[in-house]
Formats: sequence, C-alpha cells, structure tokens
Amino acid sequence: MKPLYEHQLLCFSCTACGDCCITGNDYYVYLTGKEADRIRTYLKLSKAWFKRRYLVRLDNGDLVAASTVDGRCVFLDSNSRCKVYSVRPLQCRTYPFWPELACSSKSWQTETRRCEGINRGEAVPVERIRRSVKACLAQEENY
Ligand code: SF4
Ligand code: SF4
Repeated sequence: MKPLYEHQLLCFSCTACGDCCITGNDYYVYLTGKEADRIRTYLKLSKAWFKRRYLVRLDNGDLVAASTVDGRCVFLDSNSRCKVYSVRPLQCRTYPFWPELACSSKSWQTETRRCEGINRGEAVPVERIRRSVKACLAQEENY
C-alpha cells in the first residue's frame, strides 16, 4: 500500500507553539554524535559539561537530549523557543514528516493532538515530504 503522502496532500504550517519540544517524558529527542557535537560547538560548551548537562545515554546506547522533570527538551527556552534552532537535530527538522506519521492516515490525524500545525496552511510539496521520510530512515542507522 502506498504511504499516505503519496496519495493525499498533507497540509502543515508551524505556529511555533513549542509543543513538539515537550515530550512529557514519553518519547525522546534522538541525536547522532555529529548532531550533538554541532550543538555543543554552537553553544560553545566543553565536552564534559555538555555531556553532563544536556545529554543522556540510554541503556541501549542511544544518545538523546536531556529533559526536565516535566518533559521539556533541555534546549527549549522559557519562551518555548529552541535555543539551538539553526543546528537542531534531524528529528526536529523533519517533524512532522516522520515515516511513522506521514505514512499513515490514522497516525497523521492522531498527531494533531500534539501539533496544531498539522492540517493547517498549505499543502506541503510531496518532494519535501519524501526527502524528510528518506532522511529519517537513513538516520535511524546512525543513532
Ligand atoms: S532540540 Fe530544539 S527543536 Fe528539537 S525538541 Fe529540543 S527545543 Fe525542540
Ligand atoms: S507542535 Fe507543531 S506547530 Fe507547534 S512548534 Fe511543533 S511543529 Fe510547530
């Protein structure tokens, strides 16, 4: 069966509400080592301090962004803006065009509970969605 985005136009316009950066501690913001290092360089932090304050290594070895007790990404500022926006990880750059969301009508609709930008604004060109999905799938190998 074709993925949703291949047979239906998907509309999206980010309102910058910041809700997708509040995981509620029920999912993770994954980072590759390169992404983590790019963010560390951008923030001008030492490796040791950056690791202690901003990163978590999961039991399975995956690297994720630390979060507050209420599940806010450590890079989200008090005005709900990303402090590392220009170097944010692929997971954030491609949202909501992740394979598990953009491929299924049910998942896409369910995600509207988290993201008010879904189904808002103009249809996103399918080429952009394809690129996002492809990049996510390729990145999964590098976590
Ligand atoms: S890195 Fe930035 S865009 Fe990604 S979840 Fe954290 S605050 Fe949000
Ligand atoms: S939840 Fe959706 S609308 Fe809000 S910042 Fe994230 S992508 Fe944008």
